[in-house]
Amino acid sequence: MNVFSHPEFDFHEQVSFVCDAETGLRAIVAIHNTSRGPALGGCRMYPYASDDDALRDVLRLSRGMTYKSALANLDLGGGKSVIIGDPRKDKSDALLAAMGRALERLGGHYIAAEDSGTSVPDLKTMGRETRHVAGIASRTGFDGQPSTGDPSPVTAYGTFIGLKAAVKHRLGLDDLTGLKVAIQGVGNVGFRLARYLRESGAELWVYDVQPDNLRRAVDELGAHVASAEDILALPVDVIAPCALGAVLNDRSIPAIRAAIVAGAANNLLDRPEHDQALQQRGILYAPDFAINAGGIIDVFHERAGSSPETIRAHVDTIGDTLTEIFERADRSGRPTGEIANALAEERFRKHHPASDTAQRPVARAG
Ligand code: NAD
Repeated sequence: MNVFSHPEFDFHEQVSFVCDAETGLRAIVAIHNTSRGPALGGCRMYPYASDDDALRDVLRLSRGMTYKSALANLDLGGGKSVIIGDPRKDKSDALLAAMGRALERLGGHYIAAEDSGTSVPDLKTMGRETRHVAGIASRTGFDGQPSTGDPSPVTAYGTFIGLKAAVKHRLGLDDLTGLKVAIQGVGNVGFRLARYLRESGAELWVYDVQPDNLRRAVDELGAHVASAEDILALPVDVIAPCALGAVLNDRSIPAIRAAIVAGAANNLLDRPEHDQALQQRGILYAPDFAINAGGIIDVFHERAGSSPETIRAHVDTIGDTLTEIFERADRSGRPTGEIANALAEERFRKHHPASDTAQRPVARAG
């Protein structure tokens, strides 16, 4: 297994391999860049087929967090951790506690949050051994409602703010009344985004593989049902992918009829060149790691003890960041994903040796 010469290595500051014989814990913690602050990112648990797969995932995701936090103007760096194992079979309190002790040994250079395969209670178990976990405090959230650490409400709000900035930029509209929006995936984030849009007067089309989630959007929000094949190809103003990554690909992009793509799902571009493919078709793409930063903004402010008003004001800046990206893209003729990467690098590059965006993979957050 190559580490320093790994294609995804990209000048990581530290990569730690963690093992605990007693509990069977095997994990990798990757700290990409701490020039803006401690590296914060999710702790994922997944039954990786090989150590190489785990290393590739953690390096890719950790780097993406540097870009996401820098773009959101947070005093945080980028990091990620992966526990190798099946969360349904291999997870135990002892294993989580061992992970907590490993995080403590890193001295706060990396702070863990929940991710796929881990939950807020799991992070609380790790938190018995370390202070370096986040997103677990019960408090008043950005909207004045009780928050238990689930980032979906604030992610949905940030995505709504970003979608409005895209509509303003491309269509010149402040008022969303009558705007046609197709949402792929009406789960935790997608449904809340749908509700914000409905309350603003938008007309909605939805598709979800889970019939219950689909029905909830129809019954509560009066959404129209679309099919799996059509949802991204409808003649609407905006498509909002809020389910899966890699849905902007060779097959979907030629069929898109919307003027704007603005959705919360991570890693929407199947390959970096799909950024340019969208631009060439005249579609305005709101880069995923800019528009879905509400959750990381919220976690940062939980640690800072900020007021709900401060958190909301920070999430509102997602709109300003996107407007800056769109304006730079217009001026330079470059695609928005590339501009977002460059803007993030400006915000963390001070101590980062590499800077040639065009030669490097697109940031992928998770
Ligand atoms: P979720 O699991 O609650 O919702 C996803 C929804 O998509 C579910 O209802 C699921 O049934 C549906 N779905 C799955 N496959 C589908 C398909 N092929 N077509 C249509 N629908 C499908 O997840 P979430 O928390 O709402 O997150 C949605 C996306 O946003 C994910 O990509 C996630 O990584 C990303 N994201 C979420 C957050 C957050 O705070 N939750 C933050 C940043 C990014």
